[in-house]
Amino acid sequence: MSQSKIYLSSPHMGGKEQEFVNEAFITNWIAPLGPNVTGFEEDLKAYLQKSTLSKENLPEIEVAALSSGTAALHLALILLDIQAGDEVICQSMTFSASANPIVYLGATPIFIDSEAETWNLCPIHLEAAIVDRIAKGKKPKAIIGVHLYGMPFQVDKILAIAKKYEIPLIEDSAEALGSTYKGQKCGTFGDFSILSFNGNKIITTSGGGALVTKTKAQKERAVFLATQARDQAPHYEHSEIGYNYRLSNVCAGIGRGQMQVLDAHVALRRKNNIFYTQLFKNIKSVRIFIEPNNTYHSNHWLSCILIDKALSNGIGSLEVRLALEKENIESRPLWKPMHLQPIFKDAPYYGNQVAEDLFHNGLCLPSASNLTTADLHRIEKTIWHCFQK
Ligand SMILES: *Cc1c(COP(=O)(O)O)cnc(C)c1O
Repeated sequence: MSQSKIYLSSPHMGGKEQEFVNEAFITNWIAPLGPNVTGFEEDLKAYLQKSTLSKENLPEIEVAALSSGTAALHLALILLDIQAGDEVICQSMTFSASANPIVYLGATPIFIDSEAETWNLCPIHLEAAIVDRIAKGKKPKAIIGVHLYGMPFQVDKILAIAKKYEIPLIEDSAEALGSTYKGQKCGTFGDFSILSFNGNKIITTSGGGALVTKTKAQKERAVFLATQARDQAPHYEHSEIGYNYRLSNVCAGIGRGQMQVLDAHVALRRKNNIFYTQLFKNIKSVRIFIEPNNTYHSNHWLSCILIDKALSNGIGSLEVRLALEKENIESRPLWKPMHLQPIFKDAPYYGNQVAEDLFHNGLCLPSASNLTTADLHRIEKTIWHCFQK
């Protein structure tokens, strides 16, 4: 008997998506522009501006809907005028998409270790790296921080360092839509922020992303570059290199439907995290990844654990992953740090072993907002069995 597969993070439609998509067909807006693109941008802007603590809205931001989070990062770096030979600081423990656009521009990534509380940019190593790069003769042109698995990085500390050295911050919020720090939404802290709506993210447009800017002029510039940099003219006139990075109006329709259920889906992901917290409460060798204190509010895009093999009779993340796989349940090691990737082996790295240890001892568990009670039961049974051996 083969059981259906339980995925790590599967798409979860709310119900209204197809109506927006149908609207695009009926009105023949089958193009990378149209009412759904504009509507999706407005929805995202309103959502990001709303604080969860105060009634007041936050300072102005603008949102440009794009074809992917990677495209958004690429454009953010271009807007910051990153050139070949420049250096850009990036969190090492992340998905490669955080770092690849640095290389698209011929710049060099400088990788930084994580701290153990949020698993994100370590402020100590970050500052040490900036000081050392300046001493070596090159001031880094930007800092890319990531809210991994939805957990906000140490926002106040990272912003203070960025300000002290006057280096712009790009906030990679691809995994953190719906997360907050001191009540303010992730995706609103950086000079630029990016979101992703890939199939596995907290909401999806099947594929898509967004760039969050501070000014309207920046957004207009991003949209100009994302639509092949066409100058004002009746014919096609170009004085700059452009890109084809705008979001399709069909996909944006999915996004508008997803925005209606975003908060509900965040609540469900957080519920999964509570389920895992309960499940591992009495398993001494396992620590579930949760907020260090209530300054942080994670969307818990993925629920993750750390396993101390010395306390578990040799049951580590590998053994748990294989046991789950045997039951047709998907799990995955944490992100392998970029400074350990073959492609980035020559890039400078500042830090110790924190990210590396996380990679070796950590595991991401099924975390979709549409996991059923039966799914959770299967996961629970398999994990119990695994640790009872
Ligand atoms: C998914 C992701 C991206 C890239 O987003 P795409 O839409 O897939 O291009 C960037 N950074 C992080 C941390 C991600 O998880």
